[in-house]
Amino acid sequence: MLVIGYLAIAAAPLLMAAAQGHPPRAVMDEIASGLGLTAFAIMLMEFVLSGRFRTISARIGMDVTMRFHQLLARTAAVFVLLHPFLYATPLRLHPLPWDSAGLHSLGLSEASIATGVLAWILFLVLVLTAIFRDHIPYRYEAWRLGHGVGALLVAGLTLHHALDAGRYSGDPVLAGLWVVLFALAVLTLLTVYVVKPLRQLGRPYRVRSVRPVAERTWELTIEPDGQHAFHFQAGQFVWLNVGHSPFSLAENPFSIASAPTAGERVEFVIKEAGDFTGSLGNIRPGTRAYIEGPFGNLLLDPKAPGIVMFAGGVGIAPMLSMLRQMEAEGAPGPVILVYGNRSAEQIVYREELDRLAEQPWFRVIHVLSEPPAAWDGLTGMVDAAAVDAVFEYGAKPDWLYALCGPPAMLETVEGALLKRKVPARRIIAERFRYD
Ligand SMILES: Cc1cc2nc3c(=O)[nH]c(=O)nc-3n(C[C@H](O)[C@H](O)[C@H](O)COP(=O)(O)OP(=O)(O)OC[C@H]3O[C@@H](n4cnc5c(N)ncnc54)[C@H](O)[C@@H]3O)c2cc1C
Repeated sequence: MLVIGYLAIAAAPLLMAAAQGHPPRAVMDEIASGLGLTAFAIMLMEFVLSGRFRTISARIGMDVTMRFHQLLARTAAVFVLLHPFLYATPLRLHPLPWDSAGLHSLGLSEASIATGVLAWILFLVLVLTAIFRDHIPYRYEAWRLGHGVGALLVAGLTLHHALDAGRYSGDPVLAGLWVVLFALAVLTLLTVYVVKPLRQLGRPYRVRSVRPVAERTWELTIEPDGQHAFHFQAGQFVWLNVGHSPFSLAENPFSIASAPTAGERVEFVIKEAGDFTGSLGNIRPGTRAYIEGPFGNLLLDPKAPGIVMFAGGVGIAPMLSMLRQMEAEGAPGPVILVYGNRSAEQIVYREELDRLAEQPWFRVIHVLSEPPAAWDGLTGMVDAAAVDAVFEYGAKPDWLYALCGPPAMLETVEGALLKRKVPARRIIAERFRYD
């Protein structure tokens, strides 16, 4: 349904342009205009795709939503890149008086050329800086602010260019569509940067505790500052803001490690990875916090005959939530956790996992890439050998397979599971990085 809706909006400008009944021009001119129209429609819908709306992400997952956002932006960038160069008809400043249909020349005002060129450059810069974000010496929050403001600027410039220069976009119906889509984009930004923070302001949290639980890994616990219930399902994640105004962009996604049955207390397991995560040790109990969410489709299936979890490093966080939930409410069947780490010091909540492993429904398989001398568990990476091990322990293709860890691990394990005839719909995963 979502895909049909998306395709309908993306195709609408082309269909509206075709319905205008202009006399045909050179094929390359029509292709150039078509690319421009489609790119603008994609561009405007990018705002909605990246707005973290649960109506969208709850159905296809946040990582898939973000992947679509990236792929569509790249597609639009190719269209935008080609758009000005494909016109076969020469460009003139202002249309020829006797050629109102624009068959023999493209008449553009100085203003529409200026907005078109600026939007063209800025859009390509936006896409390139997103692709090469890790190589840019700016903080993630600065990049995100620039990305949002830049996107709005591109949309505004393109709107002017389309309405002023467009042979088809000058038509009131298509012009109306552009204005509606542009308004939707602005509304999305207002929702993300004003409405959602205002809602968070009325539902503050405070830090209850911060403590180290393994090498460069922390447990952070927050609780509501005032009475309000937070409903989530085991395996979901939130955007967490600690110590900043909800209007700031200082927030990061983290899986919830506590179970929904733990009450109002919300617990995270966080690995140091950059600015915020590297300063967790400085956070004091009582510090204000805000959350947005919950999001995520890494969810338990109560009908699953058995569950296998593959966790790499801090990818254990959502699995802990699910295991704790199952301990409180009962597991649907046998559960096997494959937990990969570099060294034994990085294993978090080892005692809790060992205690849980005394229960008949649960088994944990540790995998270490740098094992100590006396290690008798699996060694190396969590890969096809680990998948073989869980099948030796009795896993079946119709069980539920939950994956969370580094992208390489997810790909390897998923590939090995598919080879083992596990249907793709029985494999669920959470990616800790949207790239
Ligand atoms: C769905 C999801 C769940 C996650 N759960 C956990 C978890 O339970 N435990 C854990 O340790 N890590 C988790 N992560 C990873 C964690 O979000 C990053 O390590 C953290 O944001 C890094 O922030 P920083 O300020 O320390 O580093 P930075 O240097 O600011 O960021 C490093 C990288 O983290 C990512 N990142 C930073 N801020 C954001 C943001 N606002 N939105 C999206 N990505 C961002 C970007 O890829 C960035 O390049 C999760 C990530 C995702 C997407």
